Amino acid sequence: MVIESAEVVVTSPDRNFVTLRVITDDGLTGLGDATLNGRELAVVGYLREHVVPLLLGRDAHAIEDTWQFLYRGAYWRRGPVTMAAIAAVDVALWDLKAQAAGMPLYQLLGGASRSGLLAYGHASGRDLPEIFESIRRHLDEGYRAIRVQAGVPGLTAIYGIASNATTAGNSGKRYDHEPAQRAALPAEEDWDSASYLRHLPTVFEAVRNEFGPELPLLHDAHHRLTPIQAAKLGKSLEPYDLFWLEDCTPAENQEALRLVRRHTTTPLAIGEVFNTVWDYQQIIREQLIDYVRSAVTHTGGITHLKRVLEYAAQYQIKSGMHGPTDISPVGMAAAMHLGLAIHNFGIQEYMKHGELTDTVFRQSFTFTNGMLHPGDQPGLGVTLDVDAAGKFPYQTAYLPFNRLRDGTVHDW
Ligand SMILES: [Mg+2]
Repeated sequence: MVIESAEVVVTSPDRNFVTLRVITDDGLTGLGDATLNGRELAVVGYLREHVVPLLLGRDAHAIEDTWQFLYRGAYWRRGPVTMAAIAAVDVALWDLKAQAAGMPLYQLLGGASRSGLLAYGHASGRDLPEIFESIRRHLDEGYRAIRVQAGVPGLTAIYGIASNATTAGNSGKRYDHEPAQRAALPAEEDWDSASYLRHLPTVFEAVRNEFGPELPLLHDAHHRLTPIQAAKLGKSLEPYDLFWLEDCTPAENQEALRLVRRHTTTPLAIGEVFNTVWDYQQIIREQLIDYVRSAVTHTGGITHLKRVLEYAAQYQIKSGMHGPTDISPVGMAAAMHLGLAIHNFGIQEYMKHGELTDTVFRQSFTFTNGMLHPGDQPGLGVTLDVDAAGKFPYQTAYLPFNRLRDGTVHDW
């Protein structure tokens, strides 16, 4: 099975997606997701100029060798652009190998370790009535675990609130599941950690009182806190028994989690912006987290993320793979096959893609009673309609950024 051609498809049905198509001499097409939200074209250039030419004529079965060739052979290692590009190649080769074997990919990864994947959805609101309504809507859709993001009094627009009144420079549309707005410049949002730390525990108290003790609840602090603030938040949320508190600090400083851990038993999830095992080296070895947030798409593909998760398994740390809508249907399928096969699966983030996206990508996964399953088609189970993709050209879009009340740029 020799790689005959490879092409990068950029399409923007509901949002921008970058997909690598790898075609072999026996006529099979493998797909890999290379979408890096807000920096998509950097990965397109990396793939088109520096990776695709190196793939032609290679043995499509040689997944590990190709991974090492692209990682070590580049000399310049790591980083989101490089690791998203390598991930796209890796997932496309796994897709091809599984299609050639006539099996769904999870079978090649060791077979199913469970019957389905517990998924969590995103509920949010500016105030309690909106939050309650959003949680009820997710429960009606079948979700059995729910992330809750709340507006903060005094702040106009913050991460994760679907009904945010949008700020200057925005399109004026609801945020919903896509914070990356189509515009020439990123939207500006506002932030104040003290107000957030005072307000958030009152939200979780109200949500617990309304929905009872059993519903798994998650929350994302989105890298905005200092270690001592994160420790305080974890402690103040303990009575409400969170499934996890996510990205409580910008964890480039892995030692920061020691301080958080010392003060709270709220489970911690970290790593959607990480891209190699080296970003996790200390926090896994010292058992400073409970869930690994990496996506297949941003962490060097199935080959590398499986390695991270096997390392994590030795410390009873589980998967919680990143799965917002900027993980394409190809990237989500890869996550589902990997999640089904590994022993230490924890939970899968899942937001439904828009209707236009479904006209470009044909998917075979199911979502039943809150559980995802990748389906039993050979390979990933996703096909890309190239003609349909061509109807939606790339549109400039950026994730928002944050300023504090005095104008200082802050983590978004
Ligand atoms: Mg997150």
